[in-house]
Amino acid sequence: MMNAYELIKKKRDGRSLSTKEIGYLISGFTNGRIPDYQMAAFLMSVYFKGMNTRECRDLTMSMVTSGDSVDLSPIKGFKVDKHSTGGVGDKTTLVLAPLVASCGGIVAKMSGRELGHTGGTVDKLESIPGMRTDFTRDQFIDITNRVHVSVIAQTGTLAPADKLIYALRNATATVDAIPLIAGSIMSKKLAAGADGIVLDVKTGAGAFTPLYTDAVKLAKTMVGIGEGAGKKITAFITGMAQPLGYAIGNSLEVKESIDTLNGSGPEDLTDLVLTLGGEMLVLSGISQSQPEAKEVLKSHLANKKGAQKLKAFIEAQGGDPDVVENTDLLPRSRTTILLESDSSGFVQGIDALEVGMAAKILGAGRQTKEDTIDLSIGIVLNKKVGDSIQRDESLAVLHSDGDNAKIDSAAKRLLGAYTIGPEKIAPQKLIHAKVSGDTVEELNP
Ligand code: URA
Repeated sequence: MMNAYELIKKKRDGRSLSTKEIGYLISGFTNGRIPDYQMAAFLMSVYFKGMNTRECRDLTMSMVTSGDSVDLSPIKGFKVDKHSTGGVGDKTTLVLAPLVASCGGIVAKMSGRELGHTGGTVDKLESIPGMRTDFTRDQFIDITNRVHVSVIAQTGTLAPADKLIYALRNATATVDAIPLIAGSIMSKKLAAGADGIVLDVKTGAGAFTPLYTDAVKLAKTMVGIGEGAGKKITAFITGMAQPLGYAIGNSLEVKESIDTLNGSGPEDLTDLVLTLGGEMLVLSGISQSQPEAKEVLKSHLANKKGAQKLKAFIEAQGGDPDVVENTDLLPRSRTTILLESDSSGFVQGIDALEVGMAAKILGAGRQTKEDTIDLSIGIVLNKKVGDSIQRDESLAVLHSDGDNAKIDSAAKRLLGAYTIGPEKIAPQKLIHAKVSGDTVEELNP
């Protein structure tokens, strides 16, 4: 007869748990038989003792079977999904999903909301006037069949064990454990039913795995779980030392995404979109190689086919497609404040975690789960790593609701996120490595 106490002790002492034992813990916790305090102790023992590959797979599968799985078979063709481990200013999905769909890919995606210091695609999409993300499964399938792209909010019935466990991890300092992140992400991806998955695993200060070696380990673990479940799957390790692009905050990020689809986006965001999107086209069998896929994607930026697909996608989900031509239709903040530099030199670093926290203080994120957020609030950076800056020149613009206490506190935090020094430094590497099968290929060495 199994009991939670014995299993916690077994993991605490560094031993591995059987498939049955992991299933017992996850199903017991999901149906309320195992209390929070025992699950929290188990999570902390996983944090310290880890899990082997088989245990990670079992953890993921028991989280998948804790709820519903989406059957995407009524959607014709190869369905391809993309998932990021979370970052600051990471609006890649907003550009990638319509762009890949405009090239013939089929993107049926479920996304989440803000998590910790990182933003969520669903919140961002909801800053488009009228845009909905709460469709039924049949509506989701119908939109994808018609437009080839749909992004909806994850429902509570998909991997409910993850929802419960995530809340507990958030409160017990056990978010950043590789087996737990892998189980959390992959359970949702597998339950969401796509045939191919491209993962964007972040490394650097703003990532849940700041260390490169941990990011590689996480990527390998997730690729292994995906392959074990019969999926085509590739992961990229990409930089999150500084924020991606310039905009942080919901409607500001939508504007930057529209600019990118119109061909005038930031270089780092565009590069990432081409790499991840290229892989989505390769996995879908639409392109034979990354270089070929990138050329197709670039041409769809230049001829605005990606932007047109964004319009169709917005319209299909109830939003106002005119935002693509006129970004002034997006929510705008009450006030904007310039943040000036207190020294001259070159930007040596911008701590993405601190920028995420500053945006949250300003009101771009929730303080409690129940909070509603002002979608117009956020930060637009004027300077990125490598740029020169003069004292009193503007580093960033704060988009705010006018609350001075929040502005002061966010401005201090944002100023502290910047490191300014006398030497010009080389631009930071964005795309570090590709992980597929058992291989880790270093990119742009
Ligand atoms: N994103 C998730 O969905 N889960 C994690 O644990 C971390 C990032």
